[in-house]
Amino acid sequence: MSRVEARNLWKIYPGDVVGVKNLSFVCEDKEFLAVLGPSGSGKSSTLRMLAGLEEISKGELLFDGRVVNHLSPAERNVALAFESYALYYRLSVYENIAFPLRARGLKGPEVDKRVKEIAELMELTPHLKKRPGSLPGGLQQRVSLARALVRKPNVTLLDEPISHMDQQVRHEIRARIRHLHDELGLTTIYVTHDQAEAIALCDRMLIIHQGELQQIGTVEEIWNYPANKFVAYFVGEPAMNFIPALAKGTNQIVIPGETEEFLFTFEGEVDPKYVDSQVELGIRPQQIEVSRERKVANSVSGTVKILEFQGDKVVLTVSLDDQPRSEVKAVVAAQERYQEGERVWLYFPPPVIHIFVEDLPIIHREKP
Ligand code: ADP
Ligand code: MG
Repeated sequence: MSRVEARNLWKIYPGDVVGVKNLSFVCEDKEFLAVLGPSGSGKSSTLRMLAGLEEISKGELLFDGRVVNHLSPAERNVALAFESYALYYRLSVYENIAFPLRARGLKGPEVDKRVKEIAELMELTPHLKKRPGSLPGGLQQRVSLARALVRKPNVTLLDEPISHMDQQVRHEIRARIRHLHDELGLTTIYVTHDQAEAIALCDRMLIIHQGELQQIGTVEEIWNYPANKFVAYFVGEPAMNFIPALAKGTNQIVIPGETEEFLFTFEGEVDPKYVDSQVELGIRPQQIEVSRERKVANSVSGTVKILEFQGDKVVLTVSLDDQPRSEVKAVVAAQERYQEGERVWLYFPPPVIHIFVEDLPIIHREKP
């Protein structure tokens, strides 16, 4: 068992610099939790407190219900891999992987069994006798991960372990990390600023901003029910669009134009106190339906300004007619062949409309 629980963790650096602010969360046994946030949001500070490399300023950290605040990294039995990894270049790959086991007093046959087992999982068997310096970067990274994980840690902590690698190698290594997590039954906390990486790897993700927890949940929960405008904007590529609008009723809003009003009905309801007040309509580019003809309702017209080709998809930047300052991004299939300057209609399906007031979502919607 290795359940990690953070209770009101604070990291306050000298000079009252707050790195982490009152952070509480649980990572369940065998869970893969991604910690996602922009640069400087407190990800590394959090991970270093979990690892025991950084003192916890306030709060409690529990492993399997036991407070571990005052235990050293070794006593916590955590594995750590950071972006900069240092292999022992004078030793063979085998000896590099064996190192943490020998350091713990394990002997011959037991070491051999564990090294060969993890080498097999990481497909390093043909390289065991080589020196790490003779291997390409991706393979070296695999050796480094094998070394971090060979002692079957209680908790595996990874801080942007592959962010400096080429795109190609990154995809391969991240698939291996997840494979290893599943095969060895690990509990993994993985820090990244790359949402695609977090989405590809995690069971749940924790979003952090300015040292504070924003939301923790599955990718679906975060995508469909963002806790605030920061999360709504931060997760999703291209990011969610926000358009100034006016609440007309508890399930209707309008985007006012110079010559026409565009009426939108949404699923769910807002509190009647918001009726007639200024709101922001949020809609994801991937959920807008673009067409050349007007749909009956829930649509607004615009002109295509920019096309960004992304393989079989195109991101359109559309400036809304009647809304001189509003631009909306929408993702369409490349075979639709939209052109710059073309007039289009954007349909916003009622179930995927978000509404925010002062950065918070206000629609009450039944979760399926
Ligand atoms: P992230 O890993 O998300 O980029 P960090 O945890 O490294 O963020 O940093 C969070 C905040 O704490 C930042 O404002 C950073 O400047 C500050 N910080 C991090 N480490 C130290 C330190 N050793 N001393 C002082 N401030 C620090
Ligand atoms: Mg960091």
